[in-house]
Amino acid sequence: MTDRVQVAIVGAGPVGATAANLLGTYGVTTLIIDREPGIVDYPRAIGVDDETLRTFQTLGLADEILCSAIQNVPLKFFDAAGRCLADIRPTAQDFGWYKRNIFLQPEAEAVLRHGLRRFPHVRLMLGTELRQIRQDADGVTLSLSGDHEVRADYVIAADGGRSPVRGMLGIPLEGSTHPRKWVVIDCANDPLDAPYTALHCDPRRPYVCAHLPDDRRRWEFMLFPGEDADEMLAPNRVADLLRHHVADPSVVDVIRARVYTHHSRIAARFADGRIALAGDAAHLMPPWAGQGMNTGIRDVTNLCWKLAAIVRDQADHSLFDTYDHERRPHARAMIDLSTTLGRILSPTRRSLAHARNWLLRTASLAPAVKRWVLEMRFKPVPHHQRGFVVPEGPDKRLSGVGRMFVQPSVETTTGKHLRLDDVLGPWFAVIGFECDPLAELSDAELAAMRTFKPRIVKIIESRAGDRWRRQRCADPDTIVVEDVHNQLRPWFLARGRNVVLVRPDRYVAAMTTTDALGSAVTNLAGQFSVSGTDRRG
Ligand SMILES: Cc1cc2nc3c(=O)[nH]c(=O)nc-3n(C[C@H](O)[C@H](O)[C@H](O)COP(=O)(O)OP(=O)(O)OC[C@H]3O[C@@H](n4cnc5c(N)ncnc54)[C@H](O)[C@@H]3O)c2cc1C
Repeated sequence: MTDRVQVAIVGAGPVGATAANLLGTYGVTTLIIDREPGIVDYPRAIGVDDETLRTFQTLGLADEILCSAIQNVPLKFFDAAGRCLADIRPTAQDFGWYKRNIFLQPEAEAVLRHGLRRFPHVRLMLGTELRQIRQDADGVTLSLSGDHEVRADYVIAADGGRSPVRGMLGIPLEGSTHPRKWVVIDCANDPLDAPYTALHCDPRRPYVCAHLPDDRRRWEFMLFPGEDADEMLAPNRVADLLRHHVADPSVVDVIRARVYTHHSRIAARFADGRIALAGDAAHLMPPWAGQGMNTGIRDVTNLCWKLAAIVRDQADHSLFDTYDHERRPHARAMIDLSTTLGRILSPTRRSLAHARNWLLRTASLAPAVKRWVLEMRFKPVPHHQRGFVVPEGPDKRLSGVGRMFVQPSVETTTGKHLRLDDVLGPWFAVIGFECDPLAELSDAELAAMRTFKPRIVKIIESRAGDRWRRQRCADPDTIVVEDVHNQLRPWFLARGRNVVLVRPDRYVAAMTTTDALGSAVTNLAGQFSVSGTDRRG
């Protein structure tokens, strides 16, 4: 017998498990499989960023994941003499969370998998391997171990860096593999007092040293040509590597050690027919920016609401095509950033290391550069200039369209303080700043607006008195909240608009005014609605 689901996910790593939780939240029948019976526990991601935490917030799991994480951790670069070359400590929380947080990947994966139990329409099958995949105009057939067959409307391949699905589809993985290997060592009973992540640009042997939750520490050491990966994992060789960094390496409590090769690679396309690649299946990058998993979570945050809208017959298949347009350029930018950080960290020629140190010190004398580094402004932020957005005029610098909407704290009419997304809910939202966003819509425009089933929110300035609250809104279900820390006023003022349509992934689809909202939603509804003519993959 063939099982039927709306979406099947291959791979229950962090990316697949996040996708399954998102689809569960949107009410989509989902099957998620993994060939392993348990969670992979070798040393992997330790850095979780604000955008990922925002997705976990949508899932209702952010607080639980943060229970075993350290928030707001600085990142420092040191030279061989231990002098600080750059100190990155971005304390702003534009998206509602700190930008640099340190966690343990297996623990977060456990929370994500446990979260799936909340959804009767989501099934997790462990110890189940995908053997074959075929697609036709109406769907995808997956042949699984145990002679099990599943038919799905769409498939997310979150099956990791070696992605069997990517291989079966014949999608090339473009880019390069770095010649140097690195050994990663995780220890318990942290022997150092250094509560940050440190990239040591030491030409004698570049290394990374990071404080982790649960009193743990990670070291990553570059291996030189001729150093055999297996031999370097022997206890005496691990002790040799640690000798310069701890008083007595023989008492360091090594939990796990593993050798990795780094890649800067990206799939030639992120989608094929009805199958999407996500996470490491779509892109591989060195770990220096801590962005491999975060980039994968961005993929599925972008993808899952689109799939939900399509399989529920609210949107046309063409919405699926925007996934590749919107995600691939940004994933490439993240690979480039990670590769550049590796180039800063790893020179082993003293002259080159000297020049790098001089450049970093000189550049940091300029206040603008210092701020750029300190506030982590070098991290590429997605900006969808095409895809599911209504582009604004020629001056795109200030436009909020295609960018992630900010997330300040707001206060409800009952005095409760919430992060804005908890007011917006998991789907679309229309937000008016000091205005009723729907005030000027015609009946036809209101009908177009309903395509998105948005939550309507009116934000009023902090302590505005009763005037705004008393003003009646066109939709009686409009939620009124206060901009309690006065963060949204400057955001809207700078952009000269007072209404935004925010997508479920928190990106701004349209930025407008009450009188122009109608044409913006009519435009978007045209891109979104099921035409009835093209449901092909
Ligand atoms: C040393 C190191 C440090 C890192 N640090 C960071 C960091 O700080 N921040 C960060 O964001 N990222 C970091 N990363 C990267 C991060 O760990 C990965 O990007 C992340 O694990 C990718 O998640 P994924 O779900 O895409 O793939 P995976 O976690 O690899 O999961 C893929 C799953 O697919 C399953 N699978 C494969 N084939 C099949 C099949 N045929 N049938 C069924 N199941 C299948 C596998 O069993 C696996 O469970 C680091 C990586 C390393 C190695």
